[in-house]
Amino acid sequence: MHTHRLAPALACPVCRTRLDAALDAVHPPAAPAPGDVTICAHCATVLELVAGPALERMTPAALAALPVRFRAEVLARAAVAAWLGPYARAA
Ligand SMILES: [Zn+2]
Repeated sequence: MHTHRLAPALACPVCRTRLDAALDAVHPPAAPAPGDVTICAHCATVLELVAGPALERMTPAALAALPVRFRAEVLARAAVAAWLGPYARAA
């Protein structure tokens, strides 16, 4: 995994947490770009990076349109983020 710093930090559209980093867990190191999928580390919402840059909540239709293996990876990571959420927020 490779950590990318987001400068400026981008706000999660759901919980408003400022996200200042993203992990590239699937692809070789590359700068975040519109269309990339990420997960809020605070509320576990699946998000999409859009032009601006900004983050938008990924719609169920957009999530369903992802390649099946990638979608499974995203949902598994969102589940882990949701499970870890209370521990991450307590730190
Ligand atoms: Zn959030």
